[in-house]
Amino acid sequence: MIKENVKKILDELPENVELVAAAKTRTPEEIKEVIKAGVKIVGENYVQEARRAFEVIGKEVKWHFIGHLQKNKVKRAVKIFDMIETVDSHDLAQEINKRCSHISKIMPVLIEINSGKEKQKFGVFPEDVMNLIKKISTFSNIKIMGLMTMGPRFGNPEDSRSYFIETRKIFKKIKALNLPRVEMKYLSMGMTNSYQIAIEEKANMVRIGTLIFGERNYKN
Ligand SMILES: *Cc1c(COP(=O)(O)O)cnc(C)c1O
Repeated sequence: MIKENVKKILDELPENVELVAAAKTRTPEEIKEVIKAGVKIVGENYVQEARRAFEVIGKEVKWHFIGHLQKNKVKRAVKIFDMIETVDSHDLAQEINKRCSHISKIMPVLIEINSGKEKQKFGVFPEDVMNLIKKISTFSNIKIMGLMTMGPRFGNPEDSRSYFIETRKIFKKIKALNLPRVEMKYLSMGMTNSYQIAIEEKANMVRIGTLIFGERNYKN
């Protein structure tokens, strides 16, 4: 099942679009299966869960952090992850920078945009992105590589489009500024129900869980 799902998605994705297999709640065995099927990047939401999988699987795949990162988990996270997609504050960036400097690592990061401006969600509001990027691009142990957004959850994926468009506009605007130490390369948008719309709106990284692994069972 997993194998066919991955193959179908990989066949369908345009060449420039990277697939992140969103693996929250999945076992290391399931993750191994997606790697065997051709997945190159695994996304994890929880540091603890990622550690367990990382101990089994190691560096045969790239690990992206896609959840909300608490400051007290940063020390562990920077050892495992190849990219943190969810930087949304100066304090978090500062902590990542500090912990990476201790292990001589430069962490690629994406800035998470709260494109729906939802109070209960994480991410920086669109109007605050530029300021945040200017402030944290001075940190020498992080490298800003693009933007990520979730957007509000809709039953109808077409409703996500305006949030993807807004995020893409910010992406283009920042890219055009050619800020020092900022490389606007990745635009991470779209999940199982919205990735096709996201790709139409120029996402080049999509994070897909359910369509690969099946429905999640949080009680596992
Ligand atoms: C769970 C998750 C996904 C994948 O969601 P699906 O609907 O299962 O594809 C993508 N991005 C983030 C940040 C997630 O937490």
